[in-house]
Amino acid sequence: MPELLTLQRHADSEDAMVALGHALGELLLPGMLVALHGDLGAGKTTFSRGVLRAFGHSGAVKSPTYTLVEPYSFGDTTVYHFDLYRLGEAEELEYLGIRDYFDGHSIALVEWPERGAGSLPAADLRVAIVSAGEGRELRFEAGSQRGIECLRQLPNEPVKHDASGAQ
Ligand code: ADP
Ligand code: MG
Repeated sequence: MPELLTLQRHADSEDAMVALGHALGELLLPGMLVALHGDLGAGKTTFSRGVLRAFGHSGAVKSPTYTLVEPYSFGDTTVYHFDLYRLGEAEELEYLGIRDYFDGHSIALVEWPERGAGSLPAADLRVAIVSAGEGRELRFEAGSQRGIECLRQLPNEPVKHDASGAQ
């Protein structure tokens, strides 16, 4: 069977987006980096909220536009949610001690990863989100064997949990 390197999914609502993020979150392993591509308003943070729900975070999730990164701790695992929109240049990540975030134990979700190109480790998964009518089209692309494993296991119809949560 050929390796599963790319996958397309449609999310016709915010809830469907959270459900898809949740489904992926259940498959992520410590050390993985997920790059989230898409314009402002594409749904990167909404998808991230779904991922964080899978780890047990039930509160609000905001894009850390000004702080660049927001940590969410779950026992031994920390999920770092990055938003590099306001990053001046990729090298700034070095001053921020970017390496410390990638110790093999934590998971990184990165919005605007292109702004950190050259200073960010390679992504295990790239998710490109574009508008499609009222909803969104998501294109998943694996960048590692672990990424391939996630795509192989991603359900066709993710279950919608109580996705709204507190905003
Ligand atoms: P980004 O982080 O990419 O800038 P957000 O996650 O903040 O985008 O989402 C922007 C808006 O798009 C929000 O109002 C959100 O509810 C909405 N949205 C996200 N995903 C979907 C979807 N699949 N279908 C419809 N609306 C969505
Ligand atoms: Mg965002």
